[in-house]
Amino acid sequence: MLLTPRAQAARPQAAAPHTASPRTRSPRRLRATALLASAVSVCLLAASAPAAPLGVGDRLFPYLGNPGYDVASYDLSFTYPGSNSKPLQAVTTIDAWTTTNLDRLNLDFAHGKVESVEVDGESASYTKAGDDLVVTPREPLVEGSWTRITVRHTSDPVSADGQDGGWVRTKDGLAMANQADAAHLVFPCNDHPSDKAMFTIRVTAPDGYTAVANGLPAGVDRVGRATTWTYRTQHPMATELTQVSIGRSSVVHRDGPNGLPVRDVVPTKDRKVLEPWLAKTPDQIAWMESKVGPYPFETYGVLMAEATTGFELETQTLSLFEKDLFTEPAYPKWYVESIMVHELSHQWFGDSVSPRAWSDLWLNEGHATWYEALYAQEKAGRSMETRMKAAYGASDSWRAAGGPPARPKAPAPGQKISIFRPNVYDGAALALYALREEIGRSDFERLERTWVELHRDGTATTADFEQLAAEISGRDLGDFFKAWLYGEKTPPMPGHPDWKSVDPGKKAGK
Ligand SMILES: [Zn+2]
Repeated sequence: MLLTPRAQAARPQAAAPHTASPRTRSPRRLRATALLASAVSVCLLAASAPAAPLGVGDRLFPYLGNPGYDVASYDLSFTYPGSNSKPLQAVTTIDAWTTTNLDRLNLDFAHGKVESVEVDGESASYTKAGDDLVVTPREPLVEGSWTRITVRHTSDPVSADGQDGGWVRTKDGLAMANQADAAHLVFPCNDHPSDKAMFTIRVTAPDGYTAVANGLPAGVDRVGRATTWTYRTQHPMATELTQVSIGRSSVVHRDGPNGLPVRDVVPTKDRKVLEPWLAKTPDQIAWMESKVGPYPFETYGVLMAEATTGFELETQTLSLFEKDLFTEPAYPKWYVESIMVHELSHQWFGDSVSPRAWSDLWLNEGHATWYEALYAQEKAGRSMETRMKAAYGASDSWRAAGGPPARPKAPAPGQKISIFRPNVYDGAALALYALREEIGRSDFERLERTWVELHRDGTATTADFEQLAAEISGRDLGDFFKAWLYGEKTPPMPGHPDWKSVDPGKKAGK
């Protein structure tokens, strides 16, 4: 993600903190209970305990994700009514592998009406608890088995009170912006990047609309006066990176490096004026490949939406941009191009290699800012050193406001910026700059290439990055990373003892 400079951070507000504590039942506990009571009373006990919102223990979003299962695939089906102020009819089918015995399971789903839930083809009871949909199957699910959950529901593009994000209403339809914690405003899911899955997305829309989603097309079916478009991902994806565009759009195709299919989605009426920007993508992909290795997915493209989001977003294989970024003459050409590269580089850093927890966000944004700045330097002569020196000056105040890069502060109520503060953008790119100064350019570049290759299609942690950097450089970097990623104050910049951070307690210039 990248905030556009004119907009004051239109980010989802922090969800109200829940008070109930997470509760899980381990198989051992279940067995121990069974020794003391008959099977019947175990079921009664399970049924009588109150449903509670659960999470996977993310420090910043405690109630995102759910324990007890891994999702392998989502099949999302949306029917667009031809108006973006009315709910879509939707069916979400989840294939998951249970990792513990479950007498019930939680999905994240907070906005939309549930009409029915089936588990393995049988109707199941369900209730709401906080932002969770708590499903109780007829028979408890056994650890180490496949289960299929089908939820018929509505998906409401009109935001609930205080919950921005999820569907974005555009001038001619809808797009999606789920980062960090808004996919469950759109569809029931295990809404945490640690549980990536394959996606099939079907969209039925009336004549005159075009629907596009992540991945490659897998079918177009016309029925009466509507069309159903099907898309399928070829690589696992985090829920926060889902994209569905419905609009009066054109899909523009071209070849990228090595025949990579590039397809962009633009308002049909603006296709001509936007074409010079679209034409830049293949060279940008080639530039990124020259830096970090092969593009990690089956396709790429930009979605230029007529909407004021206040940010651009790296939705997997199809990044979301505000159309105005390309038509507003106030933005210099080099700047717009560097923003395109920012979202493109996220396909490697953040999408293919996604964060294990949201505290690892700096690995996304630090790297995207890095390649954004490097591109601006190489293509437009905008000095990275100058940018990093300026970042150094601001770094202490960024850390004071948002926390150190790898231990960001939680989203605060009323702060729409959520966790997307400067500490994880230029503040984190600054830590990468320090690392390059410390281990040298050649090891740093090898680290970057190895990182995206090693963790491709997976999730990774800050500790994984630290370990790989130590291995590649043959150095003990423990103290270096502790200071740069977790320190309250910015450490001295290696090789630049003259760089000074401005004390956040004093005004600049004093
Ligand atoms: Zn970003």
